Amino acid sequence: MSAFGTSLFINGEFVAGEGRVETVYEPALRKPMAEVASASKGQIDQAVKAASGACRDWSQRTPRERSAALLAIAAAVEARAVTLAEVESRNAGKPLRFVKAGELANVADVFRYFGTAVRNMPAPAAGNYRSSVLTSLVRRDPIGVIAQIAPWNYPLLMAAWKIAPAIAAGNAVVIKPSELTPLSLLALSEVFAEILPAGVVNVVCGSGPDVGQALISHDLVRMISLTGDVRTGRAVLQAAAGPMIKRTHLELGGKAPVIVCEDADLDKLVETLREASFYNAGQDCTAACRIFAHRNVVQALTDKLKAMIGSLVYGRPERDDVEFGPVISARQLERVDGFVSRARAGGCDVMQGAPAESDGYFFSPTLVAAPIEAEIVQKEVFGPVLSITPFADVRTALDWANASEYGLGSSVWSRQTEQAMAIANALEYGVTWINTHGVMATEMPHGGMKNSGYGSDLSMQSLIDYTQIRHIMLG
Ligand code: NDP
Repeated sequence: MSAFGTSLFINGEFVAGEGRVETVYEPALRKPMAEVASASKGQIDQAVKAASGACRDWSQRTPRERSAALLAIAAAVEARAVTLAEVESRNAGKPLRFVKAGELANVADVFRYFGTAVRNMPAPAAGNYRSSVLTSLVRRDPIGVIAQIAPWNYPLLMAAWKIAPAIAAGNAVVIKPSELTPLSLLALSEVFAEILPAGVVNVVCGSGPDVGQALISHDLVRMISLTGDVRTGRAVLQAAAGPMIKRTHLELGGKAPVIVCEDADLDKLVETLREASFYNAGQDCTAACRIFAHRNVVQALTDKLKAMIGSLVYGRPERDDVEFGPVISARQLERVDGFVSRARAGGCDVMQGAPAESDGYFFSPTLVAAPIEAEIVQKEVFGPVLSITPFADVRTALDWANASEYGLGSSVWSRQTEQAMAIANALEYGVTWINTHGVMATEMPHGGMKNSGYGSDLSMQSLIDYTQIRHIMLG
């Protein structure tokens, strides 16, 4: 398997893109890594039609047959994990050791989980509900062609979260990776080519406003699934309201609050935040990025966080001691730097770790003491930046958390289970952790509320989201 396939994957074939050529960068070096030609309008149309054609047969395969394909994909991911991890690490700037041991294992697990789950779909009601007919039954059928738009922060893992439940349920997909990080999904397409019937998965590359927009607007697309920015979510909703109404499934980021009660175990919290705030350079929609700490512990916590930030190791992703690498692009670096510079200019206390060591898109781990109304506490930064804000009573912290436009990840830290549960119950967030943060389980749903979107990734719920409920009545 070549590490750097740059062709599109349409109807089971690798074909050169006929659109604009995009340069793909290696963020740790700020250097070009590959050139990928985008899909033309005609190629997007071919991919959607291939998916539509493939659906006819794939949707009729038994769960057992589809399951066998997904389990084979999981095994193939494991067999090629080293190559896939190297591509992902270089293109997304992720520490290689974490991609190999963690993210690739999760990609395989996601295909394996949905390959198993589809054989265990919960059976909805069936019975006789009118005396004049024999029976009613409810089916969960595939929806058809799903357009999927994947982000750059976990290129392969987010693609797996999207593709696995969709094809397990009997749909066919056309997926567009971010133009910043298409290489790992193109490499994985060699596995799809070997295992899946032509057209069940198609990969088209190119920019969001160009290729992405044309894909989500195609009339044969029945559902659009996006992980990305709120602004892109709005573009999806507009496309979904075109001549053909489409279903939507949106994961649009977050601004996870960490509510620290007076009795919290501060050492455990700081140890958890080392990863929960800084893994992937903080480019994570559930990253623990804003702490609301009881005023009686805020100083002790700030001191511990400063020490932790000072000891964080970041740098070139191939090093086996780094905890995070660069941010994804020059634009993201500028964005993160802009937030921190404005916070400093606004009078916030900014504390930073070791200065960046190389020419890559590195940003020093940062802690900002800021009031609740500060931009850095309210807006999604998506970088290795953590804010801390004191509160006087828990009710205030809860109100601050729920006033956010976002509602994805959150956590509560307290030794009193009743207090922690009461806060967790009142939080308007799709995911709440108590005395931990950011831990995912493939069996558990992941999704947001408010501007963080709706629809679940992972779990049986995601499989259900990719099906259409139908009633059949036998007279
Ligand atoms: P985008 O929403 O632009 O990127 C996510 C995906 O959407 C990419 O594949 C992108 O393509 C695609 N896209 C963009 N516009 C369209 C469109 N009109 N139609 C179809 N697809 C489209 O996010 P950005 O990269 O601009 O990042 C900005 C901010 O968004 C980040 O700083 C972060 O706050 C948030 N974000 C959140 C993510 C999450 O996990 N929820 C993931 C990524 C970003 P392409 O990249 O090729 O242009």
